[in-house]
Amino acid sequence: MGHETLAVLRSVFGYRSFRPFQEEIVDRVARGGDTFVLMPTGGGKSLCYQIPSLVRPGVGIVVSPLISLMKDQVDALRENGVAAACYNSTLGERESRQVLGRLHGGELDLLYVAPERLMTDAFLERLREVPLALFAIDEAHCVSQWGHDFRPEYVELGRLRGLFPTVPMIALTATADVQTRGDIVARLGLRGAEIYVTGFDRPNIRYSVLEKQKPFRQLEEFLATRPREAGIVYCLSRKRVEEVAEKLRVAGVEAAAYHAGLADAERSRVQDAFLRDDIRVVVATVAFGMGIDKPNVRFVVHYDLPKNIESYYQETGRAGRDGLPAEALLLFGYGDIPVSRSLIESGGNPEQVRIELHKLNAMVGFAEALVCRRRALLGYFGERLEEPCGNCDLCLDPPETFDATEEARKALSCVYRVGQRFGVGHVIDVLRGSRSERILALGHDRLSTYGIGASLAAEAWGSIIRQLIHRGYLEQDLANYSVLKLTPAARPLLRGEENLVLAKPRLRMAAPKKEKAPRRPGAATPAERDEGLFQELRALRKRLADDQQVPPY
Ligand code: ADP
Ligand code: MG
Repeated sequence: MGHETLAVLRSVFGYRSFRPFQEEIVDRVARGGDTFVLMPTGGGKSLCYQIPSLVRPGVGIVVSPLISLMKDQVDALRENGVAAACYNSTLGERESRQVLGRLHGGELDLLYVAPERLMTDAFLERLREVPLALFAIDEAHCVSQWGHDFRPEYVELGRLRGLFPTVPMIALTATADVQTRGDIVARLGLRGAEIYVTGFDRPNIRYSVLEKQKPFRQLEEFLATRPREAGIVYCLSRKRVEEVAEKLRVAGVEAAAYHAGLADAERSRVQDAFLRDDIRVVVATVAFGMGIDKPNVRFVVHYDLPKNIESYYQETGRAGRDGLPAEALLLFGYGDIPVSRSLIESGGNPEQVRIELHKLNAMVGFAEALVCRRRALLGYFGERLEEPCGNCDLCLDPPETFDATEEARKALSCVYRVGQRFGVGHVIDVLRGSRSERILALGHDRLSTYGIGASLAAEAWGSIIRQLIHRGYLEQDLANYSVLKLTPAARPLLRGEENLVLAKPRLRMAAPKKEKAPRRPGAATPAERDEGLFQELRALRKRLADDQQVPPY
């Protein structure tokens, strides 16, 4: 079999060799086994069903949701001399009849069908009368509510397995986490399906996450270290996109905004200028990227937290298509979580909301990961990375931890003292003994916790409190100005029955490997480094004091 498929690869498609796993997949499908393929966009999924359709008797039926993509594929196949056609709503009556005639005449190798056309009784009846090589369900994530592009018309495809028990089925997608994958396999009724997950690793992309403090300043610093490179900055809202693009232009960066609210002409202008390297930075919503094929995107910055890991992967994947080193930087602040949550909760049915919150949660988990980022990312898609990558921020600079018992107790008692009626910013002000009007007006300068945290910078307190939220000692009442409340878990900590270790806050990117000097004997002790870090925080805080950007919480 391998011999025959390789011959087809060469003679029909003109490629020299298979990509990793393509050959195994092609062989398995050609032998008639149900198969699930999870491979990123551009990975080469099409050949996985095209070649088996050619080597098996009968016609391969390909289900694809997008009519434009269908047409491109069919045109390309015809170029290579493959008898392919599509059957969808764009065909006139005469063309439709022609296609059906070729189907019944056994003239077709591949037929691309829109799901709603395929699942009509009349069409299914026709399929019973012709030999079928296979069913290929492309963009198979559309069948699952867990996938991020659910299409009700895909659900009907679940009937195929029962109607055509002997025809092999291959489901393909570029995006499916473990739950979605299981759901797809179940809904399509794949039998003993071999699952292939491959090609997700992008070894030339360096992943890092920076704690979001003053995001615009952090972005500027990042851009300053790469003054000529092109990249994309993703923000969650159109408003933020406009704002950041404008501030960058004021700062002298050739930047442009891109979002779905702009006129078509402006959007294609920005896209073209970016491709021609006339614009260095595109600040965009998720609307930017579909079909952007710019090889030398050197960085992708997420200014806000992406909705889920699939989006993060897709968006960061636009960097480094040329295989040269590229950066993926995520600015992550816990303040983004309530924003994303309310966006999610404001739309969709309850089940959809639940699923999206679950995915958001996983995204936060990725941002907070304490292990190799690449491993965490690939792990999410089910691909295993044997060794830590050695290149992400966590590999280059594993997070240090410190005994935060005392700090945690101070923060928790302060939340209690202000009556569990204030947000993070106010609690920090009380801890640090701020003399702001608000504090004085409320009489909070008379609280027993006033000023007990003056020796730590506000950023350090921010990090501690956020970790307390994440660890479940505090919760933010999202419906009520995100005020902080103690949870039952806080009690043992407050009573001194429990100690707590937290990660030190991170404000800077890990330096690239080559610049990382080995630790010399006599170098700073952890305590000294600790103090140094907070000094640094304080200095940074001062420098940023004139920045108008309000912390997100
Ligand atoms: P996907 O559907 O996974 O996004 P495609 O099947 O459209 O990817 O393939 C992406 C590109 O890779 C296409 O241009 C295709 O011709 C090319 N390609 C796929 N397999 C091979 C191969 N074995 N050798 C060379 N090019 C390949
Ligand atoms: Mg494809």
